[in-house]
Amino acid sequence: MFQKILIANRGEIALRILRACKELGIKTVAVHSTADADAMHVRLADESVCIGPPASRESYLNIHQIVAACEITGADAIHPGYGFLAENAKFADILAAHNITFIGPSAEHIRVMGDKIEAKRTAKKLGIPVVPGSEGAVREDGEAKRIAAEIGYPVLIKASAGGGGRGMKVARSEAELSQALSTARTEAGAAFGDDAVYIEKYLEKPRHIEVQVVGDGQGNAVHLGERDCSLQRRHQKVWEEATSPALNVEQRMQIGETVSRAMADLGYSGAGTVEFLYENGEFYFIEMNTRLQVEHPVTEAITGIDLVHEQIRVASGSGLSLKQEEVRFLGHAIECRINAEDPKTFVPSPGTITHYHTPGGLGVRVDSAAYTGYRIPPYYDSLIGKLIVHGRNRVECMMRLRRALDEFVVDGINSTLPLFRDLVENVDVANGDYDIHWLENHLAESQ
Ligand code: ADP
Repeated sequence: MFQKILIANRGEIALRILRACKELGIKTVAVHSTADADAMHVRLADESVCIGPPASRESYLNIHQIVAACEITGADAIHPGYGFLAENAKFADILAAHNITFIGPSAEHIRVMGDKIEAKRTAKKLGIPVVPGSEGAVREDGEAKRIAAEIGYPVLIKASAGGGGRGMKVARSEAELSQALSTARTEAGAAFGDDAVYIEKYLEKPRHIEVQVVGDGQGNAVHLGERDCSLQRRHQKVWEEATSPALNVEQRMQIGETVSRAMADLGYSGAGTVEFLYENGEFYFIEMNTRLQVEHPVTEAITGIDLVHEQIRVASGSGLSLKQEEVRFLGHAIECRINAEDPKTFVPSPGTITHYHTPGGLGVRVDSAAYTGYRIPPYYDSLIGKLIVHGRNRVECMMRLRRALDEFVVDGINSTLPLFRDLVENVDVANGDYDIHWLENHLAESQ
């Protein structure tokens, strides 16, 4: 097992990883920018190293500084959290060259899943259902027309190098196709320096359902069920739940087993998430995230399994602590991402939190690095904290969420708490009756 882990991240996720290390008796090293000198993750770690000025590319993305911090402190492994360097294959390669363990999958798997076309090809080969579409990039308009006619309109043009939903265009008929192709190519070229695009069937009203998996890199993998993250704004997840209100036990186990078998065959190591769009009873692979996700606590709530413990165990060569038949799904969990943003316009609201009080009680977890007097810096994401509520069933979970939201106090800045207080009273949300467009429509209607 590792003696000392350096946490190459900040905010709530740095704290989350620190907690897991402490429970396993592993010493921790925090790294921080000058803007985060007073941050909670710095205060609670055994050691800390300042790695640069506020801008992420000079601090949290500065590979040389992070490797140096590792060498100075004698840390034997790095946990990257999510974002920043978590899915950077070059970072994983550099750590390997320095004999530092990267707590995550192999650089090769990060690379494969980081390329959208390659990821889709790999998923298909592994028996994971994918969205019908072109086999790789489409160069010629004629070829695009033929494929679109084959899979049927509407179709979606996507950038191979895509990310954050950029470079995507819908074409509803052959007449719209050429225009959509050229716009998508121009956007992709400008955004990613690569104008390669591919075509997929456009799903009109899908849900976003993702499967959590953990592999040991030795041909064993277990799945921990799914999360439903359909409530999104601009492709950003806002509210996540496990289990999905749309699936029954058979569907859950079936897609879970498909994913865990595929990851076992791939020899995947560590935690990963396979994301799907789900429509009319069918799953369609969209991408795989080769890291811990923001919304992982809902899975922890219903399984009682600590995902960061498992990541650390696997990376250290101790293997998984559990077998598939030992995984139990108990009750229902919901996570709300509470951001420092205006609840109507979503304009970021950095500044000082003058009063901060988090809810507690049975089935309530708050993952946050905020405190009264904390000044949210303007340089990073606007997440204040995640409220995760667990109940024996979805109804109990919603009742508990309502009262936990009532207790939550964030003063001095704007937060998205009012949005969640609105959502928890909504009939569609109560019924679990929503798709990936629901939240945007709801926000437009309530303007
Ligand atoms: P990115 O990497 O740019 O975020 P994704 O492939 O993950 O791209 O897709 C982002 C979002 O776009 C999805 O979460 C979904 O909302 C929508 N989307 C992607 N593919 C399709 C599709 N074939 N049909 C309908 N919506 C899609």
